Amino acid sequence: MSECIFCGIVGGEIPSRKVLETDSCLAFLDIFPANRGHTLVIPKRHVLDIHEADADTYADVAATAKKVADILQSKLNSEGTTIFQMSREAGWQTVFHLHMHVIPRWSNDGLHKPWDIAPGNEAELDQVLQQITK
Ligand code: AMP
Ligand code: ZN
Repeated sequence: MSECIFCGIVGGEIPSRKVLETDSCLAFLDIFPANRGHTLVIPKRHVLDIHEADADTYADVAATAKKVADILQSKLNSEGTTIFQMSREAGWQTVFHLHMHVIPRWSNDGLHKPWDIAPGNEAELDQVLQQITK
């Protein structure tokens, strides 16, 4: 039995409700859904997070998430979509196998942004841009 839950799902040892399967990715319903149809997209090959994944693997997961988003929109008549991808504990990741959350959205569905919206300090924005780009 794999120690990784999502590898267990890929291997069929742990049941899942499959939404889409490609040669390299699997999409299945999240069992603690934020909204109706909340789906996770994972690469079949174990990789930890965005920083450990190579760009091709990440792009493959993103392309599959796009397919899933379109399927959910057309089948569930959702009005919008929110994509989340958490990496590492500080980034709110709890299952350490790369995954994207594809969450169908409706107006007034009760979900809210996990951060407070406030204007940034101009000097801090300039300083961080300099640090990122120098
Ligand atoms: P994250 O917090 O981004 O690492 O998300 C992990 C997600 O995996 C959570 O939304 C969980 O509800 C979901 N999850 C955990 N175990 C399972 C499982 N066996 N089948 C489907 N989803 C799961
Ligand atoms: Zn895994």
